[in-house]
Order: sequence, then structure tokens, then C-alpha cells
Amino acid sequence: MINRRLAIFASAPLLSVLLAACGVGADSSLAQSPEEADVATATTDPVLQGAIDIHAHLDPDGYGPGGHGRSMDALDLAELAEQAGMRGFVIKQHYDQTADTAYFVRKLYPDLDVFGGIGTNFATGGLNPYAIRQMADVKGGWGRVVWMPTWDARHYVVNHGNDRPFITVASDGELTPEVSAVIEAMAEVSGRTRVSGGSLVLATGHNAPEEVLLMVEKARALGLQVIVTHPLLDSVGMSVEQMKQAAELGAYLEFVSAFTRQPETIVEYADAIREIGVEYCIVSSDRGQGSGPEGDEARAQTHVEALTAAADALRANGFTEQDLDIMFKENPARLLGLPVLQ
Ligand SMILES: [Zn+2]
Repeated sequence: MINRRLAIFASAPLLSVLLAACGVGADSSLAQSPEEADVATATTDPVLQGAIDIHAHLDPDGYGPGGHGRSMDALDLAELAEQAGMRGFVIKQHYDQTADTAYFVRKLYPDLDVFGGIGTNFATGGLNPYAIRQMADVKGGWGRVVWMPTWDARHYVVNHGNDRPFITVASDGELTPEVSAVIEAMAEVSGRTRVSGGSLVLATGHNAPEEVLLMVEKARALGLQVIVTHPLLDSVGMSVEQMKQAAELGAYLEFVSAFTRQPETIVEYADAIREIGVEYCIVSSDRGQGSGPEGDEARAQTHVEALTAAADALRANGFTEQDLDIMFKENPARLLGLPVLQ
């Protein structure tokens, strides 16, 4: 593995210089304490074999309004994912596009299905169709997920009592023209990302339940795959009834791993997933959230550990291995337009 990567570095001097200039190299991607390495190699949960984490926060990233760094970078996770037998992951950033990062990770880890995306917040021009088209045009065409406004969404900014500008996605029960233009631009380039000819996925972001449903309706009508971003977190706050409506419109519902922290949220999530049906649900990690200004001061749970903990919590609440396969492997593959592996 390491030899293969070194061979790639040797045959790609430009990449190697570029990564070295960024302080990223084969060695630094392995810069974990022995304790961390033990945890990573000890993870053998069958749920990880072929799993795709559709929500991985990773460096290089900015701090964002919360002021926290990330706990690892995209090459660190590629190493862990490969060790754990995962199929791949989607690099989520709120304030940038990550098609280019996915391109580099794939160059070093050609066996992983790694994808990027774009957050439609102010840093990318907000609801900006030009940024969507550019992401799809980045060499490789690995930018596939468009997160509707998250940190800069009106719902999120107002709910957090923040005094800063925000992006409005709907008013008077209708999507704004800007949201419609972004979804239409997605439909135009979907199935035609550069080189790989991939389809785009709309992720609904940190918006209000009624706004989420309007976006689901519009995107599904244009034939796009849709993931409802963590509907049970406070940043969205959907009822089971609203989640079922989204599923009926053909969207997948995303359940992020932080639910394992409290016994009551484990029960809440298990009940919701059972009510909606596993065939409409995806479990992702939403990890990479560091603590301390540079994100790595205290050791955070890795994406791999978080997925394992989520699987264990669901098993303990009656979900079968087949249910878990649907939510951790098959539905993420369907969402991203990949073949479902048996
Ligand atoms: Zn997230």
C-alpha cells in the first residue's frame, strides 16, 4: 500500500511538490499516535465492508462560524477507510467545493470511490449556478453533491440567534428564483460531469422542514437524487410525518452518527428509521469535527469509529445486518449513482 503510494508520488513529481508545499505527504497522512493507529486497524465491523460515508468533514477546510478546525484531512480518512474495507466517502465542506480534493485522493487511492461537492453558502457565491457548473467541470467530474445553504441558511442563522447575513431559500410557500436556478443548473449538468459523466445529488442543508420539502419536490421533478440532510438535528428539525413525505417524494433521509451519544436519541432515531423504512434511510458519520482551534487537540472519534458505533446502537435496537447493509452501503451507492454491490 505504502509502496504503491510512494510509487505514485515518484511518478507524479508535480503532485508530490504540491502536496509537500501544503504540508501534506505520505508521512504526514500517517501522523497518528500509536493508540490511534491501533483503533483504526482493530476496526473490523462487517458494516464497514463496502460502506460509503456520504458526510465526511475533512481538511483542508476553513474554521467557519463555529471556529473549530477539522480532526483529520482527506488523505488521513482515505487511509483509515481503506484499512476498514470501506468503499468510499463524500468530502463535505460548507464553504468551498471539494471536486479537486476528491481528484487528488483518488489519484493516491484508486480503489476508493471518493466524491466531492459544494456548499451553496456565501463563500461560494451563495445560490450560484456558475459555481455548480464549475464544480461539475473540474477534471475527473468527482464533485457530485450540492448542499443547499447550511451555515448561512436563514433557518440556521436565526435559530442560533446569530447576527449575521443569511440566505433565504423560500418565501410565501415558494422557493426563491435563486434556489430554482441552482436546482435547474444541477439538472442540466447531471449525468454529464466531466470525464466520469456522473449525476448530481441535492442535499437539503440546514433549512426549515417546509423549505426542505419544497426543494425535494422541485429536485425530484427534475430527476435528481436527493438526500434530506440530518432531518432530526436541531439545524433542521423535521417531524416523522414530514420525513415520510420526503421519502414519498423519492428522497433519502440522512441520519448522522451523533445520535449514539444519548440513550434517548438512540431510541428516537431507531423509532424514526423503523417508521420511515430502512429503504429510504442512509446513515452517515458527519464526523471530522475537531475540538480546539486546530481540531486535533483532543482526539475526536474518527468517521470509521462513528459509523461502527452507529451500527452497534442500531443492532441493539433490533436492526438486522441486512437493514444495516441497506443504510450504510446500498442506499449511499444508489444516491451516488454507483452499482449496488452484493
Ligand atoms: Zn456536517
